[in-house]
Amino acid sequence: MTDSEARRRFFCDDHLLKLCRWLRAAGYDVAWERAIDDGDLVAWARAQGRIVLTLDREIARRRLAEGIVHVLSSHDPRRQLAEVARAWELDLEAYAFTRCTVCNVALEEGTGTDAPPRVRERHTVYRRCPSCGRTYWEGTHVQRLRRLFAGVASSA
Ligand SMILES: [Zn+2]
Repeated sequence: MTDSEARRRFFCDDHLLKLCRWLRAAGYDVAWERAIDDGDLVAWARAQGRIVLTLDREIARRRLAEGIVHVLSSHDPRRQLAEVARAWELDLEAYAFTRCTVCNVALEEGTGTDAPPRVRERHTVYRRCPSCGRTYWEGTHVQRLRRLFAGVASSA
């Protein structure tokens, strides 16, 4: 089994968009759907081997829910991230910035030719999403998230 196969996969319910984006930024495969029936969701998540992250205690009472539905104890995204990282033993730093936070697909090496000139003056390493075409680089947003992940890791 490769690293990526061994890694946890998740589903975030529609109140957890920030947590969803952060987990993707940490390199984890996180599905997110706006409209999905709770019963279908649990069956679908089980079939896909995904852990359902939710604030909804009702979902946890569903048949099949045991072991795959994690009801978060906080509405604060930072606390949610820390809780999930601790509970499922995630490494938020090892695979960071390998996945598109919007499309949830693995990033490829990019050339940066589609990055703004002011970015190309300062950066040489780029990753590109093969799905939406977004280019990622080590800008202030990425640095801010790296600090967040390091902070969560050190507080665990
Ligand atoms: Zn994308």
